Amino acid sequence: MQNINELEELIKIVSKLPGLGKRSSQRLILKLINNRNELMKPMVNILAKVYKNISRCNKCGVLKSNSIGCNNCEITDKKFKKICVVEQVSDQLTIENSNVAQDCYFHILGGTLSTSNKERKEDLLISSLVERVRKDNIEEVIIATSATVEGQTTAYYIQEKLKHLKVKVSKLGQGISVGSSVEDLEDGTLLSAFKNRTLIENNKD
Ligand SMILES: [Zn+2]
Repeated sequence: MQNINELEELIKIVSKLPGLGKRSSQRLILKLINNRNELMKPMVNILAKVYKNISRCNKCGVLKSNSIGCNNCEITDKKFKKICVVEQVSDQLTIENSNVAQDCYFHILGGTLSTSNKERKEDLLISSLVERVRKDNIEEVIIATSATVEGQTTAYYIQEKLKHLKVKVSKLGQGISVGSSVEDLEDGTLLSAFKNRTLIENNKD
């Protein structure tokens, strides 16, 4: 392939997407170029729309359309009594696809607490979680963070922040091996982790 700056730049960007190396990015981009009208044009249009209209809700972290309110935390007509707390939108998708938390609202933190990556507490949606629990009379907060040091540190911090509220706080149970993230769990493992979730004792009373 000739050295064309725009293409090189595009390949570099696409290669940053999960599961795509340089070669697969090249193939994908060639497919787009060879199908300008059927694929590339509609993709450019929809990407521009998504860029403009879709963002994370700054209260609960889920993806929402900017033109309407957030139907996860603002339009709470479902009246669920549980909130499932995850790190990323991809974790929410995994849990939704496995149908294990159909009676829960979601809350997406946007990362984990860690001393190494300098992610600050204020950047994670923890205060807004406490606010939601209080405002929506939530009865149980299910913390579904990764089985990593950062994920567990975050879970502990959230638990501390919720201590003063009369809410049950639980964590996903057995079956999740150390180091794994929720996004990568199989349906069976997730189901068992939800069923066997453990109540964090000091929040009981
Ligand atoms: Zn929201």
